Amino acid sequence: MLVDFHTHTTASDGALSPADLVQRALVRGVSQLAITDHDTVAGYRAAVASRALASGELHLVPGVELSCQWSGVNVHVVGLNLDVDHPVLAAGLSRQAEARQERAAVIARRLEKLGLSGALEGARAAAGDSQIGRPHFAAWMVAQGHVAEPSVAFDRYLGRGKPGDVKAFWPVLEEVVGWIVAAGGVAVLAHPLKYRLTRTRLERLTADFRAAGGAAVEVLSGRQLPNEGRELRELARRQQLAVSLGSDFHQEQSWAADLGVEPRHLEGLRGVWERWQAPEQESCT
Ligand code: AMP
Ligand code: MN
Ligand code: MN
Ligand code: MN
Repeated sequence: MLVDFHTHTTASDGALSPADLVQRALVRGVSQLAITDHDTVAGYRAAVASRALASGELHLVPGVELSCQWSGVNVHVVGLNLDVDHPVLAAGLSRQAEARQERAAVIARRLEKLGLSGALEGARAAAGDSQIGRPHFAAWMVAQGHVAEPSVAFDRYLGRGKPGDVKAFWPVLEEVVGWIVAAGGVAVLAHPLKYRLTRTRLERLTADFRAAGGAAVEVLSGRQLPNEGRELRELARRQQLAVSLGSDFHQEQSWAADLGVEPRHLEGLRGVWERWQAPEQESCT
């Protein structure tokens, strides 16, 4: 059985349309998929309506990946199995959309000062109807010939500690966890090792996340080393949290994970998916 509870579509910064993502998941034999676009459920909604789901072979779990800040760090929280029409979530998502627009204007002003003019128009054009983010600035820089590839745009201008790394607009961790919980969902701390925190700070982040109502941590989020998986499972165990798994798929790339992960090495930890599988299992017995 393959599952994937962390993926992106063209509704945020992914390359595939929601229907194409579902199609790819089906081809790869994924039986449970969550579309977790950055701060929007538009990709999920489009996938629900797509014909690709008609076969019934794939269970689509409602999802989202919310941006927030904790102690000056830009942290991502994945919400799974939530009511995407819940008014608290809807209000939160419209705030996030506004925050992204305002942030984009600030990023563009900062880039302008570095001699990169026209960034806002360029990034907006690259984003189209998608939720605008730093990858759209990176795409514009590549198209303009300012950098050879997106990763260089992040290294020079957009990544951690660089001028385009603007966090000020995001709500705090507790708030976004609250939206997910209010909408009946499960809050998952996304890719905990990506924040490059010290052990002590990662433990504090995870404890604060749990205190806010968080339920699980991602122990697999794309390509990672075996010892990273072990470290994350130990974190989950110490903090008494369930675990989630995903590819964080954005597009087909030689260095990135493709859709679908095998739930294994769980060593007694509880998978978040057991929460929505449980009723079905009960009705079978
Ligand atoms: P944002 O949502 O605007 O804060 O942008 C964050 C997104 O940028 C992440 O979800 C990644 O998809 C992408 N990203 C982050 N770091 C890099 C990098 N070094 N190279 C390419 N893409 C990146
Ligand atoms: Mn992304
Ligand atoms: Mn993320
Ligand atoms: Mn992601």
